[in-house]
Amino acid sequence: NKSEEHVFIEKLQEKYDTIDVNNINRFADLPLSSKTLKGLKECGYVKPTEIQKETIKLSLMEKDILGAAKTGSGKTLAFLIPILERLYCKQWTKLDGVGALVITPTRELAYQIFEALRRVGEHHDFSAGLIIGGKDLKFERNRMDQCNIVICTPGRLLQHMDENPLFDCVNMQILVLDEADRCLDMGFEQTMNAIIANLPLKRQTLLFSATQTKSVRDLARLSLKDPHYVSVHEHS
Ligand code: ADP
Ligand code: MG
Repeated sequence: NKSEEHVFIEKLQEKYDTIDVNNINRFADLPLSSKTLKGLKECGYVKPTEIQKETIKLSLMEKDILGAAKTGSGKTLAFLIPILERLYCKQWTKLDGVGALVITPTRELAYQIFEALRRVGEHHDFSAGLIIGGKDLKFERNRMDQCNIVICTPGRLLQHMDENPLFDCVNMQILVLDEADRCLDMGFEQTMNAIIANLPLKRQTLLFSATQTKSVRDLARLSLKDPHYVSVHEHS
C-alpha cells in the first residue's frame, strides 16, 4: 500500500536528526529501510566501520561531504547506503531515470562497486548500470536511460555527455566522486570539472578520497556546497 509506505518513510526520515553518531554500534540501530538492512545482513555487514559511522547521519540528511579515509576503510558502503535510502525514500521508479551517479577512476573499481551494490541492494527494485567503455556507445546509452544508479569512469561519462545532447541527469539526487585523489592522479582533473559543470546544481555530492591533497580540496571547492569534512585516522 503506497500511502502506508509513505507514512512509514516519513517516520524513518524524522529519525535521521536524532541519530547519535557516538552511539552507533550496529547497522540495525540506524533508521534504514528494511530492504537495505536485510541486504547488509545477508552480506555479513553488522557493524559500520569508522568512516561509515562518521558520515551516515550527514549523508542521510542530504549534506555534502568530503570524506577522507584510507583504502580498505569501507568508503563504498558509506555512499551506497545513502544512495539506496534516498531513492527508496523518494519511491524512485524506473521511469524516474538516473537518480545517482558514481564516478570512480578505473573500470575495475567500477565493477567492484557495481557488485557491492548488486548484493547490498538486492531487495530494492532499482536498476544499476556500468558506463565504463568497452561496449559501443549506443548500447551503453540505451542502457543508461533505464538506469537508476549509474557507475562510471570519468572519460567514458564525459564522452556520453558530449555525444548525447539528451544525456539526462536532470533528476539526479546524489553525485559520488569516489577515490577522488586517484582520479586526479590519473589526470582526470579537466574531465571531472567538465562533468561537474554539466550536472544539475540541486544535488547532494559525496566526495571520498584516501588522501586530502590540494588538488582534492580544489575539486571539493568546485563540486561541494557547504561541505562537512570527515577525516578518519588510524587508531594507534
Ligand atoms: P575503501 O573504498 O575505503 O578502500 P571498501 O569500501 O572497498 O574500502 O571496503 C573494503 C572492504 O571492507 C571490502 O571488502 C568490504 O566488503 C569490507 N567492508 C566494508 N564495510 C564493512 C563493514 N561495515 N563490516 C565488514 N566489512 C566491511
Ligand atoms: Mg573505494
